[in-house]
Amino acid sequence: KALNRIYLNRLSFLFDTTVTQALDLVDRKCISHITSPSGRELYQIQRSLTEFYICLNNCNYCTCASFSFHVLRKGQYMCKHKLATLLSSAMGLCKEVQYSDETVALMLEGEG
Ligand SMILES: [Zn+2]
Repeated sequence: KALNRIYLNRLSFLFDTTVTQALDLVDRKCISHITSPSGRELYQIQRSLTEFYICLNNCNYCTCASFSFHVLRKGQYMCKHKLATLLSSAMGLCKEVQYSDETVALMLEGEG
């Protein structure tokens, strides 16, 4: 029982942190919603001037290390980037960007 409580506390701690970090990304307008003419869609989360993560729009997937570690291995529901894309698009705060099909395909390949 005590173990359960510790486990729950830890989960809510992780989740709270994730929400705070996700809202920070939304605040700093780090999220671009990228679409292509053929209807491909993805989200790009700016990490620095030259680095970014990619989240797929239709499934819970992100290219960050935290996704592999916390989501795939530790069972966290989603990483802060994926949560940020959901919040940002719900609030209408994504930068809307259109790229060619080739560019979007390259972005997905480059991260695969
Ligand atoms: Zn991520």
